Amino acid sequence: MYTLPELPYDKKVFDPIISEEGFDYHHGKHHNAYVNNLNNLIKDTEWSEKALEEIIVESLHQQNTGLFNNAAQHFNHTFYWKCLSPNGGGTPSGAIAELIVREFGSFEKFRDQFSDTATKLFGSGWAWLVLNEENKLEIEPLKDAHTPLTSNKKPLLTLDVWEHAYYIDHRNQRPKFIEGFWEIVNWDFANRNLARNE
Ligand code: MN
Repeated sequence: MYTLPELPYDKKVFDPIISEEGFDYHHGKHHNAYVNNLNNLIKDTEWSEKALEEIIVESLHQQNTGLFNNAAQHFNHTFYWKCLSPNGGGTPSGAIAELIVREFGSFEKFRDQFSDTATKLFGSGWAWLVLNEENKLEIEPLKDAHTPLTSNKKPLLTLDVWEHAYYIDHRNQRPKFIEGFWEIVNWDFANRNLARNE
């Protein structure tokens, strides 16, 4: 049985970028629905013996779309909440900063490219920063519930650009929400992901 993870901060700390009501819906209703659907789909099946990452990879392979969508959305949202921090924003430091400058020329160039990718992603999806198998950074737009876990890429950061991520606080203005992301992005989390050996 999966459970909705607690948010690692108070729901009021990011207002007006994300308000308490925004979290009530996005975390309390949307993410919660994925968790409930996932539990119902795996109940009394062999899937309940598997780890979440295995469910994601194998359900995609088997084209079990309902299970994949809910399992991947549970993973993606759990990861996404950690990409935000009340102590976040500003320019990165540490290993992630060095990689960004090396591969994009400057933090500003990286930020503009990531924002552009997130803005132009048509429909629902996620803008990811990943480390590929050649240890290079990639900005990857993925549709719907898709996740870098199924292509052997290490997720470092993500931004949810489904309309449900911003309609409460920004109505139809995705670019305004993306601008706000840079004020609360958790660079420490990105550095911790980079340092993970798996
Ligand atoms: Mn979402």
